[in-house]
Amino acid sequence: MKYTIQIHSGSFESCAFNTQEIMSQLEKIRSQFEMESIIIGWYKYLDFKVLYDYCEEHAIELYAWLPVFSEHDALDLSPFVLKNGEILKPYRLSTQESFTFCCPSNPENMDKITEALLNHFPFGYFHGVFLDRIRYPSIIHGKEILEGCFCTYCQNNIIMHSDSDKIKLIYNQIQKLVRVFKNKKLKIGLDLFAEPLLKYVGQSYDLWVDHVVFIKPMYYHYTHAPAGLPFEINALKKEGIIVNYPERRQHYKVLNEKYHDFLRLGIEWNYIEHIAETSPTQLIKDLKEINESGISHIVLSWNAMLVPNEHIEAIGEFERGNYENNR
Ligand SMILES: [Zn+2]
Repeated sequence: MKYTIQIHSGSFESCAFNTQEIMSQLEKIRSQFEMESIIIGWYKYLDFKVLYDYCEEHAIELYAWLPVFSEHDALDLSPFVLKNGEILKPYRLSTQESFTFCCPSNPENMDKITEALLNHFPFGYFHGVFLDRIRYPSIIHGKEILEGCFCTYCQNNIIMHSDSDKIKLIYNQIQKLVRVFKNKKLKIGLDLFAEPLLKYVGQSYDLWVDHVVFIKPMYYHYTHAPAGLPFEINALKKEGIIVNYPERRQHYKVLNEKYHDFLRLGIEWNYIEHIAETSPTQLIKDLKEINESGISHIVLSWNAMLVPNEHIEAIGEFERGNYENNR
């Protein structure tokens, strides 16, 4: 199995883990298994030269993790407005992740975000960028969200919000950003919802596969937070929309057949009380299932800094073929 890991270093301005702490966790991980790539964000002021040199030395690709339609409180963007005229309320997961969403249609928003992201990291120290929150807000903000944005811009420009309109809009907006980063010779990876949830947030896999290096569909089976399957599926169910859990083995096989060359399946491996209570046993069970489906690359999400040692060691054992079947 090939592994990409994800590190959440903090919000843009507030550091959760410093360079030293990150380097020591990377060493711990590398003592158990090799990584193909590292995705890191959003804290702006780490010592990226140290990280880049480490990655170069060990043939690891470094991707800058960039939220697009969310988390830009400092930018004064025009907000996402509900049909009743209220501004979308953020979903605060932690002090460093607020799931605010701006209007995805307004070109002024896109210009401001693009400029901010371009100045965000020293991209000379990165091999690629990983774009996140490239979507409409999801049902967890309430069912009004499905009707789309009713800000002045959207109303004046008659922006439609059917599922396929949303998909086209997000694609066109994000394609502009993708072009900007491609011009800087950076590789592109995308954070996307699990397939059964795609249409509710304006996303698609098919539109992207020939334009990016990889797509990371988030198959978070244990996460009770945004993008987590149980969390999003329950929120839809509360509004009368029934989305079934995919039967994993078969579902993964289909994903692999359709998207193999671009697919890096996202699964959670961090342990966060009440939010993502993972275990080494479950992690290995998932890895075996994914492996049997033919999928060859996974993204261990979403924060390698919050992963217990036993989880890291379990993957090491899995890679060495030592992990007993009955454990
Ligand atoms: Zn709008």
